[in-house]
Amino acid sequence: MTHHMPARRALIRLLGASCLALATGQAVRAEAPSFSASDMVAAERLREAGLASGLAYELVDSLVTEVGARPAGSLNDQRAVDWALDRLRRLGFSNVRAEPVPLRAWKRGEAHAHITAPYPHPLVMTALGNSVATPKEGLHAEIAYYPDLETLKADVSERARGRIVFIDQKTERSRDARGYGRAVAARIQGTAEAAKRGAIAVAIRSIGTDRDRLAHTGSTRYAEGLSKIPALAVSVPDADLIGRLTRYGQPIKMHLALQAEGGIAAVSHNVIAEIPGSELPDEVVLIGAHLDSWDLGPGALDDGAGVGIVTAAARLMLEAGLKPRRTVRVVLFANEENGFDGAIAYADKYKSQVHQFVGESDLGAGLVYRFQSRVRPEALPLIQQIAQPLAALGIALGSNEGSPGPDAALLMRRNAWPALELSQDGSDYFDWHHTPNDTLDKIDPAKLGQNVAAWAVMSWLAAQSPVAFGPMPTAAKP
Ligand SMILES: [Zn+2]
Repeated sequence: MTHHMPARRALIRLLGASCLALATGQAVRAEAPSFSASDMVAAERLREAGLASGLAYELVDSLVTEVGARPAGSLNDQRAVDWALDRLRRLGFSNVRAEPVPLRAWKRGEAHAHITAPYPHPLVMTALGNSVATPKEGLHAEIAYYPDLETLKADVSERARGRIVFIDQKTERSRDARGYGRAVAARIQGTAEAAKRGAIAVAIRSIGTDRDRLAHTGSTRYAEGLSKIPALAVSVPDADLIGRLTRYGQPIKMHLALQAEGGIAAVSHNVIAEIPGSELPDEVVLIGAHLDSWDLGPGALDDGAGVGIVTAAARLMLEAGLKPRRTVRVVLFANEENGFDGAIAYADKYKSQVHQFVGESDLGAGLVYRFQSRVRPEALPLIQQIAQPLAALGIALGSNEGSPGPDAALLMRRNAWPALELSQDGSDYFDWHHTPNDTLDKIDPAKLGQNVAAWAVMSWLAAQSPVAFGPMPTAAKP
């Protein structure tokens, strides 16, 4: 469903009604529950302070410069946890802590691939996360070309057997992550689909929207009972070449040598900081991001930006001396990229705690253009009121079928918690996502400020709401 945005007059009328009730002490009921006038004023002040705040950018700068790439389970991942604990304490948060998240780490090694026929051509490539190694001398075989994952899934022939499956799945550019959402199954499921058909390795076109000669990594999955085959992504221009070569009818052969190690026992941590609630401390407003990154770059956009945005948004409330009714909890999740171990650990540990909403900033550093919810119907009047101060940031109210970012979506599904979403413009995000090119220069500090303003307004008002956003009328599907 889609909410309609109430006219400004309607909002003034609602606020007026509740003020009148306070002033006269009468049991006058507004037609719908509403925020107090002072909470709305505080929200507007948070918005202006957020727009002027440079804290999110300072945090991303520090994280990508002082720590760098931080793949889950690595030494640098530990350094990132220490960095986050130190920053959150120094910013004045309460209950700052690191909660252990056991995981199986994966470590990249040397990797090379080239076309050997019809003529030698080096490929710009990268191993996919979780990939097994090739034998030391590498693998050499003919390519079985598929234009997309669906074609591979539909193939009942023996064409892939003994070959290197190539999936030329294209990623469409889109403002939301829709194009990526459609394409990414080729990376996640393509390996098992190729193994099922007897392939000895799988190579995919990078899941990305750029035309750069850079490969995009990301997680792939193996399936029980199927052989684990090496998996890699090639750059978009290299994929284009392979696609064109198929038109000329000669066999295309590939050699690949890839080293990697998986299943390494390691421990990472979810890093948590709070502003304790003044009236309902056991109810939690969860604003999250993930602290880990892929290893190829410093993860400025994915997800250094989100770490900066949600931390700075919560810090604005401290700076303003606000005492939220519910606890505002910043959660920096461990290992979003290669297994969601942090989100899974959090979901288990806190499953009996009431969450007012869960949300996550994890689509880079573009402007927020839409506010969406997934709350019980009784809370929708409050959602419409939260949308009012957001409108001045160029943010429109969307549907009540929002999706709150990857870790938060896992929490929402597992524990049937309500969720809020601030949709960012991700048009450029998948140009750089999971590549060495995910660097600080891609971030516009002014756009980060708009994000901080929006997260602060939304989190503050949700924490003040006279109405609980959950429980959800029906448990979400697992
Ligand atoms: Zn991310």
